[in-house]
Amino acid sequence: MGAYSPCTAGRNPEYHAPVRRKLQVVFAAFAAALLPHASARPGPASAEREAPAATLPPVELHAPPSVPRPRVLEVSPRGERVPLDAPLTVRFDAPVPLAERASLLALTPRTEGELRFLDDQSLVLSPKRWRPGKAQRVRVNLGDDSIEWSFRTRVPMPSVITPGEGARLVLTFDDGPNDRRQADRLLDRLKDLEVRALFFPSGRWTATRKDWVERARSEGHRVCNHTKNHVNLTAPWMTVERITEEIRDGASDGECKLFRPPLMGFDTRVERIANALGYELFLWDIDSRDWEGGPSEDVAATVLGAARPDAVVLFHIHADSTFQILPHVVEQLRKAGYVLSWDLRDAPNAHVGPGARAGARAEWGALADRPSDTESESAEAGGLGPP
Ligand SMILES: [Zn+2]
Repeated sequence: MGAYSPCTAGRNPEYHAPVRRKLQVVFAAFAAALLPHASARPGPASAEREAPAATLPPVELHAPPSVPRPRVLEVSPRGERVPLDAPLTVRFDAPVPLAERASLLALTPRTEGELRFLDDQSLVLSPKRWRPGKAQRVRVNLGDDSIEWSFRTRVPMPSVITPGEGARLVLTFDDGPNDRRQADRLLDRLKDLEVRALFFPSGRWTATRKDWVERARSEGHRVCNHTKNHVNLTAPWMTVERITEEIRDGASDGECKLFRPPLMGFDTRVERIANALGYELFLWDIDSRDWEGGPSEDVAATVLGAARPDAVVLFHIHADSTFQILPHVVEQLRKAGYVLSWDLRDAPNAHVGPGARAGARAEWGALADRPSDTESESAEAGGLGPP
């Protein structure tokens, strides 16, 4: 006797206690689940409702069985120098509901391609072609379990370099490094390679490095104007006076009269002021994109793929990728028939070849010979790289 049974339970209130308590707990938990805002509401009423549940032991509630939410197990590709046709694959740990598949992937920049599910837990996107040398961002939309990653595509190395046929290809180097030694070792390297380049550091950088400017000039380079403080001269707050000051106090080796506006920031006002100060606007044809910090192979491929007679290449003094790849690029360009100098006198066929630009480009090559009052066409600004 004394064992619990439905018959005896009714007679002894002690036996009812655990049952009632369990029911209370279940009810409290359900109320909390159904009315989450009610228990969160401050005030004595809410405190009273919560009080019994807080004093009781926890009870497990069994949720109705649900389909597991898919999460990402594996993605590819990752890293740098990804081939331009590399398929994008994503593997999940559970089936992806049909309704979610259409909006599952987001690509930045947007890229066309064919999306297929190999089975309900893995997808493959075959791109038409990723953009060369770009960071590609991918997002898999799975609510709270969404993930994002990015990879970088390679720049294809050209199988043939456009022949130089004795024409110039001008290497230019902008800005200034934080570390002076970088600027020195770049001069060392250009000396070893026997290249004569144009430099566009900021006037502020050269102001305290006059010996560097003198060394560059004495080794056959030109140090030219890139404003004093590397500012965007088309910014709304730039007045005529400030633009004038920025250009007037730009770097100079005493001879070069070329002016390159930072960040491609120029308009007719900037050009007029530069001309009035005796400068000729000078941009570039090939942006090596070394400022992006990508792999040095991509910097080389960008330049070699776009090389053409009389072209001007934009590099940066501080770009380590450029420093690393320079011997290879110079060797390849020379093999293709280019003369790596700004000076017209070094290049017998300065405007020979399909990519040659006429007239204006030839003139600035012989800067030292050019009378200061010669009226010349400004350097052609068409077909230039991105800002
Ligand atoms: Zn710059």
